[in-house]
Amino acid sequence: MSNIVAIVGRPNVGKSTLFNRLIQRREAIVDAVSGVTRDRHYGRTDWNGKEFSLIDTGGYVMGSDDIFEQEIDKQVELAIDEADVVIFVVDVETGITGMDEDVARLLRQTEKPVLLAVNKVDNAMREADAVEFYGLGLGDYHTISGINGSGTGDLLDALVELLPEKEAEEENELPRFAVVGRPNAGKSSFINALIGEDRYIVTDIAGTTRDSNDTRYNRFGFEFNLVDTAGIRRKARVKEDLEFYSVMRSVRAIEHSDVCLLLVDATRGFEGQDQSIFWLAQRNRKGIVILVNKWDLVAKDTHTTKAFEQKIRKVIEPFTDVPILFISALTKQRIFKAMETAVEVYKNRSKRVSTSKLNEVMLPIIEKTPPPSNKGKYIKVKFCTQLPTPVPQFVFFANLPQYIKDPYRRFVENKLREHFGFHGVPIEVYFRKK
Ligand code: GDP
Ligand code: GDP
Repeated sequence: MSNIVAIVGRPNVGKSTLFNRLIQRREAIVDAVSGVTRDRHYGRTDWNGKEFSLIDTGGYVMGSDDIFEQEIDKQVELAIDEADVVIFVVDVETGITGMDEDVARLLRQTEKPVLLAVNKVDNAMREADAVEFYGLGLGDYHTISGINGSGTGDLLDALVELLPEKEAEEENELPRFAVVGRPNAGKSSFINALIGEDRYIVTDIAGTTRDSNDTRYNRFGFEFNLVDTAGIRRKARVKEDLEFYSVMRSVRAIEHSDVCLLLVDATRGFEGQDQSIFWLAQRNRKGIVILVNKWDLVAKDTHTTKAFEQKIRKVIEPFTDVPILFISALTKQRIFKAMETAVEVYKNRSKRVSTSKLNEVMLPIIEKTPPPSNKGKYIKVKFCTQLPTPVPQFVFFANLPQYIKDPYRRFVENKLREHFGFHGVPIEVYFRKK
């Protein structure tokens, strides 16, 4: 389920300050566990038990001080298209500006819920100044201070009220694949090469489509749902090569999928935007297959493939256990292999290791290479089990879990990968007190 919340507003009103405040509590925990550097503009968090993704739209624009008005309009339009709820931030210090009015005009036209947050209301005096924002024609507002946090709890209460109730996770579904990547990477060409003809669509069987964005296909002997990326449908409208657009367009598709097929343009390399999308999928714990497309255009000698692959693996450390394939959507080279791999990754992601097997394999490994002792205290791992979560998570019970450091956690993760095969799947390893 994807609940996407976008923060919009002109530069300097306090969007990124608010973003950090809303995200940091949760992110601090996630960072400590995963050890992954976080994207400063995209995060997942929760409030009153409801999870959502938060996107700071301003964060993706460079030199946001002299940003063009037109650019903001495009951002807001895209945010309206892709988000479930929009938080519009304005600044009580400056009052209403022309740019605010522009944004408000766009927001008044949408059916999507909009929360107006009047920021920098750090004290009671400013509470009264906020009244002028009724003038934006967006109705009631929330006064907040991103800096000291006041009002943000009420804002979150109002926000989660607007989010849909949690749906039950369905089991035994067909794999849901999303084809993602920067503009021009070849997503439409790939999809076309894969399922270009209508005859591969499996005609409606009642109750099989869980989401109107999915279409069910049968191709090369595999049955799967392809998550329709809004970005592909609407590509005629905006085709700017900005990180913001790629991310915004990928979020929903990624969140709806089980496995992401990340298309990379071989003629451009694995760049910032590709990396952002990769980490987006990783942080959502989705399976990932990297498809280096347009391989037909690359002049090759015996080392080209290996070198290209190594470059990518270096960038995606420490999550390097990911399939990387070299394909051509144009000549259809290795399209079948790409699908076969995606199906494998899907299976890896839903893999369950029995507790007895897990202990039988892992305990001797841990006994042989135990966690380093801390202040003369020996750390003993006694038992482990896979959690009944939809994606692979493992708990290891120990006498002193607090002394187990990240490198050891990674060692255990690597051993799990080595013995049980989680190629292409982010997994989590936790240590808990026994
Ligand atoms: P953005 O460009 O919209 O992301 O704005 P920033 O979050 O970078 O904030 C712009 C400036 O406003 C920074 O100097 C912040 O410290 C300041 N600021 C943000 N929130 C508040 C607030 O609640 N009160 C006050 N007084 N200043 C704030
Ligand atoms: P999208 O924006 O990611 O959907 O990319 P498109 O599918 O529209 O492809 C962008 C351009 O790259 C088009 O001109 C395609 O014909 C071209 N293209 C896509 N895949 C390949 C490929 O494998 N080889 C070559 N040579 N060109 C490709």
